[in-house]
Amino acid sequence: MQLPIAYTRPELSAAIARLREGGKRIALVPTMGALHAGHLALVAEARRHADHVIVYIFVNRRQFAPHEDFDRYPRPFAEDVAKLQEAGVDLLYAPEEAEVYPEGYSTVVSVKGVSERMEGAARPQFFDGVATVLAKMFIRVMPDVAVFGEKDYQQLAVVRRLVKDLDLPIKIIGLPTIREKLALSSRNAYLSEKEREIAPKLYETLVAAAGEICHNRPPAGVYEQAVKQLLDAGFASVDYIEYVDGEHLQPLQQYTPGGRLFAAAWLGKTRLIDNIAVSETL
Ligand code: AMP
Repeated sequence: MQLPIAYTRPELSAAIARLREGGKRIALVPTMGALHAGHLALVAEARRHADHVIVYIFVNRRQFAPHEDFDRYPRPFAEDVAKLQEAGVDLLYAPEEAEVYPEGYSTVVSVKGVSERMEGAARPQFFDGVATVLAKMFIRVMPDVAVFGEKDYQQLAVVRRLVKDLDLPIKIIGLPTIREKLALSSRNAYLSEKEREIAPKLYETLVAAAGEICHNRPPAGVYEQAVKQLLDAGFASVDYIEYVDGEHLQPLQQYTPGGRLFAAAWLGKTRLIDNIAVSETL
């Protein structure tokens, strides 16, 4: 069957009404497109939790700062459609910006606490933009389940908080990161051949640093060494490396079960992020 695509809210509502017939369950996979195997793993997971899977593609201007890569963010729409069709997705929602944020739009959804460190500190506009668009999309689709990647672990924590605080009856599922040496990301498309060779060093450095933390080295010393390793490997700068608890994302001073290690670093003009669980079984 041809992949149905809804571009407008009336089309979306009509398609959802059809999918809901007979009390069927719906899972939503939010994306900004430029789909890769990580996104498709979310689709496969979504399928396990619902009768129908809806994917949305929307490059959300509000989560980009003016100097960031909104304009050059990859938008290979026809290829994305082919991938979703192949994956057996039941509906693609691809709204226009003017329909999501019509003239006069002025509401911001802001999740405090869990959003404030790391990505929130490095990109102050980011989580308000994410929470705002997700609140809108959740209300439009009202899925039973929504699936997110641990690649953006802090985002997942923000979404869990949002859904809880706004009483949205949506189950949030997190899926471990899919990697090919480095975490798959739509932004990997920006990397030159040389940068592609260097990029896996981000994950390798996190794994090595996690090992040190497991051996009870103080995180501050571990960060310093990890930053040096990344700069030596060819990264231009490091926004942060932080060891925090997996739920509230507050800093930890020593090895603690459930902790995770996060990093964001610049490779040339591309900003890469990654995070891993820190456990003795690494
Ligand atoms: P994005 O299109 O980058 O906004 O990502 C859409 C969803 O895909 C988010 O829930 C991401 O966490 C998830 N995602 C992105 N990359 C990966 C990956 N390598 N493995 C698993 N999930 C991912």
